[in-house]
Amino acid sequence: MAAEDLHRNPGWPLIFELVRTVDYRFFHCRRCSCCVAFPDTFFEKAENYGLFVAVINFRLDKQKEENRGNVCITTADVHCLQCNNLFGVKVINVTVSDKTKDSREFFWLTMTELVYWNGHEEVKASSVEPPNRSRREIEEQIERIY
Ligand SMILES: [Zn+2]
Repeated sequence: MAAEDLHRNPGWPLIFELVRTVDYRFFHCRRCSCCVAFPDTFFEKAENYGLFVAVINFRLDKQKEENRGNVCITTADVHCLQCNNLFGVKVINVTVSDKTKDSREFFWLTMTELVYWNGHEEVKASSVEPPNRSRREIEEQIERIY
């Protein structure tokens, strides 16, 4: 099953651990090994954080609103569904001067809380770079996921 099908299929049973074979590459929880995200949803890295457009097996805390000048950002903390490890935040909404600027939701995950299975061995998630993509490929991939 492709990563996009997982994100699109709300009936898919949540917690699962993928078999570590050459067929799969994925990020999993550092503590409990629960599968969290796939590399095709990994889009950007900034210091210790990774931007993902889709994540699985997570639980959200209550939404928080943060005002910075005329920008209001709605976020919620993201936890591992299985062991409650805090992964980072989900950005739910960004509003600029009362207009919704970007209604797409995305995730900033702390890479040190994740481990990456690269098909052969486990490596630090913080050492993984997002796949190289053109702007068009990124748009197409986001369209498929949402
Ligand atoms: Zn966990």
